[in-house]
Amino acid sequence: MDYDAYQEQKEKQFEARCRRCGLCCGAADDPCEHLTPVGDGRYFCPIYSHRFGPRRTRGGRIFNCVPVREILQRDWPGNWQCAYKENPVNEIIKSAAIKEEAAWKTRSF
Ligand code: SF4
Ligand code: SF4
Repeated sequence: MDYDAYQEQKEKQFEARCRRCGLCCGAADDPCEHLTPVGDGRYFCPIYSHRFGPRRTRGGRIFNCVPVREILQRDWPGNWQCAYKENPVNEIIKSAAIKEEAAWKTRSF
């Protein structure tokens, strides 16, 4: 696999983790005017391929739509449900569990 194909595959894997909850687009408070519900609690963005740049919320606030990677350090209403925010925590827990298991296996009585 060449580098471009590898990058594309990684990007698709990253995107696939999104739950489409719309919370990073304001679903829980003042949503972006483009945020569109699909009826099962999930949302889509009809301008996704060219979404970046100045956008407006339904309440009239102007903000910049940016890649989700750029806002992961910020808080927004419901952000704890974001699939990308929970992973670092999961990784820490997983790594702690692996260390604990290793310590258990090498314990001496
Ligand atoms: S333009 Fe950006 S903020 Fe608005 S719905 Fe699309 S992805 Fe979300
Ligand atoms: S908050 Fe996270 S999981 Fe929900 S739509 Fe935004 S990026 Fe996807």
